[in-house]
Amino acid sequence: MRAAFYSRESDDIEIRDVDIPSIGPGEILLRPMSVGLCTSELIPGHLKKGGSLGHELAGVVEKCGAGVRDLREGERVFIHHHVGCLNCHFCRRGKYTMCPQYHEFGFDPTGYAEYTRIEERHVRIGAIALPDRVTFDEASVIEPASCVFRAIRTASLSIGDTVFVIGAGFIGLVAIQLMKFFGAGRVFASDAVASKLERAEEFGSDMCVDLKEKHVVEKIRDANEGRMADLVMVTAPTLRAVQDALAYVERGGTVIQFGGTPPDGTVPVNPYEFIVRELTYLGTYSSSHIDARATLDLIAQGKLDVKSLITDHFPLRELKEAMDFKRRSSESLKVVIHPNSSS
Ligand SMILES: [Zn+2]
Ligand SMILES: [Zn+2]
Repeated sequence: MRAAFYSRESDDIEIRDVDIPSIGPGEILLRPMSVGLCTSELIPGHLKKGGSLGHELAGVVEKCGAGVRDLREGERVFIHHHVGCLNCHFCRRGKYTMCPQYHEFGFDPTGYAEYTRIEERHVRIGAIALPDRVTFDEASVIEPASCVFRAIRTASLSIGDTVFVIGAGFIGLVAIQLMKFFGAGRVFASDAVASKLERAEEFGSDMCVDLKEKHVVEKIRDANEGRMADLVMVTAPTLRAVQDALAYVERGGTVIQFGGTPPDGTVPVNPYEFIVRELTYLGTYSSSHIDARATLDLIAQGKLDVKSLITDHFPLRELKEAMDFKRRSSESLKVVIHPNSSS
């Protein structure tokens, strides 16, 4: 079978012919049909540091190992690549993403393969059968969409809150929809790309701000009865976005840090402001099997549109081209790879 690998020597992606993995008890062999290209895979050095390749995955169960009870061969499934153990200190407090076992990658070799072996714990906890009306493409983005779901849930958005979403790419556009669904009053959005702001408006954003604009603080006040935003979500992966967020948040409000900023990047903070303005700065990382299920339900019920956010498709053999395309294109929202397409 063909599969993609990250090569440390060349610091690049290679497509190689390898044996189909054999499976043990509790495991399944999956035929990946749609795999979302994650922007984390494009961050320089991310794969070299062990970041997972091909982790946004939906496919068909090809074979079940001994003892697999809840899945059948031929069944369409989404699989979460990271799952907690459900037993440790963190899992017992619902902090699944902080579980020491959470980072164990459940796919062998990766989702970018004609077949992949799924580990026992990931089958048991991370597999969700798909309703017929949810396509493989839609199911492949359950993982990134569920990270947004978890962030908003963790921030305890109140009905009527004014929200500002910084960055209107795939994540930002999912956030705008979910903020509305969770009861936000006004939703504002910013981005540097005009077509993304147009999409933000289509999804009900009440005011869109071009990043080149000045006087954004005044614009927010004008559109929001003189106040700033109760909740600001940073989806853009830049330190500037973090600083903007701290300027856009109203007293008593919350900034959600979602976008992955450079690991050693810092911003100046005035702690006194956090006291007297009662600000909350909230980080959320990844999602859990529970958030994934809730997100699938919203997609299946037509309450969250991810279909129109999937803008580009590539076969497995063009994975490198797909990555180059995504790096270059400012308009592309989500790229999905089809490891088993004949085209
Ligand atoms: Zn991802
Ligand atoms: Zn755990």
